[in-house]
Amino acid sequence: MTVIPFSSGLHRLGRDTYAYLQPPGTWGFSNCGVIVDGDQALLVDTQFDLPRTQALIDTLTTQLPGTRVATVVTTHANGDHCWGNQLFADAEIIGSAATAHEMAHEVSPEALRQLSGPDAPDGTLGDYMRRHFGCFDFSGIALTPPTRTFTGQLDVRVGGRIVELAEVGPAHTDGDVIVHAPDAGVVFTGDILFIGDHPIMWTGPVENWLAACDRIEKTGARYVVPGHGPVTDLAGVRQFRRYLEYVADQAHRRYEAGTPYWQAAADMPLPERYRGWGHRERLVITVAALYRQLGAPPAPLMEVLAHTAAAEQRAPAG
Ligand SMILES: [Zn+2]
Repeated sequence: MTVIPFSSGLHRLGRDTYAYLQPPGTWGFSNCGVIVDGDQALLVDTQFDLPRTQALIDTLTTQLPGTRVATVVTTHANGDHCWGNQLFADAEIIGSAATAHEMAHEVSPEALRQLSGPDAPDGTLGDYMRRHFGCFDFSGIALTPPTRTFTGQLDVRVGGRIVELAEVGPAHTDGDVIVHAPDAGVVFTGDILFIGDHPIMWTGPVENWLAACDRIEKTGARYVVPGHGPVTDLAGVRQFRRYLEYVADQAHRRYEAGTPYWQAAADMPLPERYRGWGHRERLVITVAALYRQLGAPPAPLMEVLAHTAAAEQRAPAG
């Protein structure tokens, strides 16, 4: 596999198939995908805000002139993958039925603006939100959910090409979808894959997420484009799968021992291969979801986020 540099913008992966990468890949810096045939394009995900989505459109206009985005696939309901949808008013927007439902119940752009803007509450959580989300512009966003929904699988035509959509959630969120371009050997995973940073499990169960990794591996793809971070390959998917298994096993032991979820996340030892990953504090969110799966009462979102912010401040390396 040719190594694709992790630099901002459009990168060709194979036959008329591109990754639009957004380093550093941390909170809100999400990747998109573009699959082209003739004058038609399918876009996988939009950006977190309107200026960043407009920059994506400008890049497509300049680098793929004469191409029209006829289809947008929304891989899941998190705003960093769909809050730019309104700028593709002429396109059909496809997502899972669960994603369409979840989009209406996610934290709203206005609420996120208040949580991360200059008027964000003082304290550890406000400081965390300002630092990680303060660079985005959440004004003017009109939630634009999928205009066509599906469950299970759906094949979509782009010119003469077939693109395979598969619903693999609930895992990261309620309705995760992965996008496979078989004739190019490329899978766009949405946030089923994070590369270089700790992932976030909002929903689970982890078994679905592991099965999603297996499904990606079965495609035999040459290039795997994560929702965040650099392009990887099937070895990267396997390493990520092992991380999920490890964290789930560790969380299970700590749950049985009666350890609170935030404490379980804080004192979980990490094998060497995961120590360089960023945002270790996100383990708090994932362990909270794993505990819920094990039978713990759901922890309120703001409580989980407050513990996440506090964990970053303690920030043991690895
Ligand atoms: Zn994301």
